[in-house]
Amino acid sequence: MKHANIALFVPHLGCRHQCSFCDQRSITGTAGVPSAAEIEKAVQIAAGSENYDPKSCQIAFFGGSFTAIDRKLMLKLLQAAYRYVLDGTVSGIRVSTRPDAIDDAVLDVLKAHGVQAIELGAQSMCDDVLHKNKRGHTAQDVENACAKIKRYGFELGLQMMTGLYGDTDEKAVYTAREIIRLQADTVRIYPTVVLKNTPLFALYQRGDYRPQTVEEAIELGAKLLQLFLKAGVKVIRFGLHTVEPDSFVAGAFHPCLAERAYSRLYRRVINAAATNLPHGAYRLLVCPADLSRAIGYKRENIAFFKEQGLDFAVCPDAGIKPYDVKILGKG
Ligand code: SF4
Repeated sequence: MKHANIALFVPHLGCRHQCSFCDQRSITGTAGVPSAAEIEKAVQIAAGSENYDPKSCQIAFFGGSFTAIDRKLMLKLLQAAYRYVLDGTVSGIRVSTRPDAIDDAVLDVLKAHGVQAIELGAQSMCDDVLHKNKRGHTAQDVENACAKIKRYGFELGLQMMTGLYGDTDEKAVYTAREIIRLQADTVRIYPTVVLKNTPLFALYQRGDYRPQTVEEAIELGAKLLQLFLKAGVKVIRFGLHTVEPDSFVAGAFHPCLAERAYSRLYRRVINAAATNLPHGAYRLLVCPADLSRAIGYKRENIAFFKEQGLDFAVCPDAGIKPYDVKILGKG
């Protein structure tokens, strides 16, 4: 059974910062704090859905800086959610927060209220990028928070962004390697988008910031996905689910961004397998579930290799693992 989240957004609450890129309200589309009644309603809707599995479902407080909000309010939200952990309706709770809002006291509270996973918005492991984007924390803060979260036995999730102001592909790769070194269990990768009324928007308007194109985000994303895949870090999100059209100005947002990045990852895998292959027609065996990813968005992988003189007929083969391929002569 696939993991599922009952997602509740806690926008901007408790956040003393204004990160260059952030307008939480535009990203979440929610302006208020969830009430106990709203939490109950969300749980009931999820629990009443077909194939609902309590063992694989968590209540997730996303969006803001959960452990930085007013402590009484944080406790209220946790208590409202924890009753569903206690009665077995969900398996646990996950929260997302800032690296500098983690200490032993808060981890004790989370542990006592059924929290299983903590996701930290690391965004970058390069101090100059963090500083330029007004994150208000350092890479060392991320490292310290990760060590504590691991010591308490929580599942550790890290979120990183690409294409931030002052960021480069090399710095993003470094960030990914640091995330692997810090032993994250999961990672979310978000290419930056420019939203109205953010500091990044002002930089963009002045011509001081150029956002990644969709193509650049896909190309870099494929490289990062490959690193995490090799290291066994589970990528649970690539790209924003949605942005409000009224707020979106520019940047790497595309409804199929994740699919396209995974397809590009396949292109890297095929490319490596096809090194020194003479021009000609071949059968490319791939894991059946990944057939469309191997072929590529609008068949772009097929077209890419055709231009290099390699004519691939992509065939499903149950013996091939995901992100592996086998090339055979066409005969
Ligand atoms: S810390 Fe999080 S919620 Fe606060 S401004 Fe930055 S990204 Fe937004």
